[in-house]
Amino acid sequence: MKIALYPGSFDPVTYGHLDTAKRATRIFDRVIMAVFDRPSKNLLFSTSERLELLQTSIETTARLEATSYAKLTIDYAREVGAVAIVRGLRAAGDFEHEFQIAQANQYLDSSIEMVILMASRQFSFLSSSVVREIAAFGGDVGELVPPQVATALQRKYAVPRS
Ligand code: ADP
Repeated sequence: MKIALYPGSFDPVTYGHLDTAKRATRIFDRVIMAVFDRPSKNLLFSTSERLELLQTSIETTARLEATSYAKLTIDYAREVGAVAIVRGLRAAGDFEHEFQIAQANQYLDSSIEMVILMASRQFSFLSSSVVREIAAFGGDVGELVPPQVATALQRKYAVPRS
């Protein structure tokens, strides 16, 4: 059985992430979407919030599931028995970042392949940061994220932040 790990910040999960995950299930027997606990960026949602939004956004099946982790991605990939790490690529801007990650992971363990899926055309502009920005100013994110994610964003931004 071929298992793939799809790691990310998922802050929050978007239809773009879900599209990449679904496409990965056509290649692998099992895809594990994994929320990285401590990415080096400012987060809007906590790890448990990001995981809950992810879990309620996917239909958990034998092929697709969601979890979280707080260690080196390559170590977690080994732990779950993954043969590959899946990532998505939108525009040229993503390339350098993804290339660096791929090289670092290859250095750490060359037996786990990086599989980079090109973003689907309709989601190629879509990122969690764009979604957060639209939601922060009360814009409609209904076509970009699942309904419960839109509600969670509304709640976050309804509370005045100091
Ligand atoms: P990161 O893990 O770099 O903090 P994200 O959690 O937003 O970033 O994304 C996880 C992975 O999913 C990354 O490889 C990113 O390029 C990819 N991704 C994000 N949005 C999309 C999209 N709209 N279509 C395809 N892939 C995407």
